[in-house]
Order: sequence, then structure tokens, then C-alpha cells
Amino acid sequence: VLAVEGVSRSFARDGGRVQAVDGVSLELGRGETLGLVGESGSGKSTLARILLGLETPDAGTVRLDGEDWAPLPERGRRARRHRIGAIYQDSLSSFDPRWSVGRILRDASRGAGVPELLGQVGLAPELAARHPLTLSGGQRQRVSIARALAAEPEILICDEPVSALDVTVQAQILELLGRLQRERGLSMLFISHDLGVIRQLSDRVAVMQAGRVVEQGEAAALFARPGHAYTAQLLADAP
Ligand code: ATP
Ligand code: MG
Repeated sequence: VLAVEGVSRSFARDGGRVQAVDGVSLELGRGETLGLVGESGSGKSTLARILLGLETPDAGTVRLDGEDWAPLPERGRRARRHRIGAIYQDSLSSFDPRWSVGRILRDASRGAGVPELLGQVGLAPELAARHPLTLSGGQRQRVSIARALAAEPEILICDEPVSALDVTVQAQILELLGRLQRERGLSMLFISHDLGVIRQLSDRVAVMQAGRVVEQGEAAALFARPGHAYTAQLLADAP
């Protein structure tokens, strides 16, 4: 169980401070998919970065199975970092463009071979020799998923993983993520500004507005009877 309690983080901006995450508490249970929805700037990615240990909270605690997770000294984090994996809108953009798909996957793997890793996300072994820039958006996102899973994480944080893809490819990637989550019993934090996408995968949903979680609950119940005006508005605006 990943337990977030009273986590806050602000940034300096325009001579003042922006409260990006403001006293957020939530829990991600084992094997569960928690959808995190909210408009642009509501603090979703900042929260994700805190959970990944990439950002230090000003206040609050993050615990993984009861143990303090963040903030951790760099060395402690390295040893356990693989427990939480991540995919982003374009995860491969941070890699050296000279790296092949095979090298990217080998670098992340804790045992599985490259052809096996590619196969798990529906890609042919020949793709190992290619470079991410020569792949389609959907193929790139499959490689990102393979790379995240190569580290054998218990938790997968997906920050807008399909936002840059067209609708058909979105559906394929969501189907793949849902299947892998079920097969491996992964716990998943699924972040999106798109309620339709959140709806497809989430067991529970948390709604973020201006750095705060304004409402959270079981997905079907929350969508049937939103308890907060902002959730109702999100639902009304969704296509
Ligand atoms: P989006 O849906 O557009 O991805 P988000 O919900 O992920 O938005 P965040 O990226 O977490 O939102 O940003 C929350 C707020 O914190 C924004 O006002 C943003 O400008 C600010 N912010 C985030 N990171 C930084 C930073 N490193 N320095 C300054 N401000 C930041
Ligand atoms: Mg974001």
C-alpha cells in the first residue's frame, strides 16, 4: 500500500509562491487502479514526481508498505527505486537519441531479455535495433511500458500516457495497460485530465483541483453521484 498523507509542495513564481500540491492525502492499495483527474495545473504531475522521489515535499509523508518512501537520500532511493515505475506522455524523449530500443530496454531490465520485453507489449523483436525517433507514437509508448515493466515494479505511475496519441491508438494502449495491470496485479496510479480515459481503467478516482484532492471514492459511485461541484462540472464537460 502506498499511503500519502498531508503532502504539500510549493514553487516560487513571480515573486510569490504557487501551492502546486496542497495537503493531499490518498491511498493506493495493492492491485488497485486509482485514477487521478483534474484540470491543467491542478498539481497531478507534481504529486507524481513526489511519489517517484523526483521532488521533495515541503510537508507530509509518503509511505510504501508502512516504510517512509520520500524524501529519501539519493543512495537509499536508488536501491529501492525500481519498486515504483513510471510512464509519461513521451517517456523516451529523455533518452540519448543514439540509444536503440534494445539498449533502452536492456538498461532497465532486471532479468527479462529484450525480445521477451517487446513481446509483452505486442512488439516484434526486430524493433530492438530501431531508435525511438523512428517509431510511431503508439510504438514509442509500448516501448515506454516495456521499459517501465522491465524493472519489475509493484506500482506503476502513468502520467498522461495516452494524451499525445490519436483516439484509436489511445484505446489500444489503454487496453494493454489494463491487461498488464490485471495480469501482474500491479498497483496503478493513472493520471489524466480526460475523464473518459480515467473512467476506462480506474477502480477508484481522486479529483484534484488547485492542488487539493476535493473528492475521492469508488469510480462508479463517484461518477453516478458526484459529491463535489467541481466533479459534477468535470462530468458535465466530458464528451
Ligand atoms: P497538466 O494537466 O497540465 O499536466 P498538472 O495537474 O500536472 O497539469 P503540475 O504540473 O503538477 O500540474 O503543476 C501544478 C502547478 O505547479 C502549476 O501552477 C505549475 O506551473 C507549477 N509547477 C510545477 N512544477 C514547477 C516547477 N518546477 N517550478 C515552478 N512551478 C512549477
Ligand atoms: Mg501534468
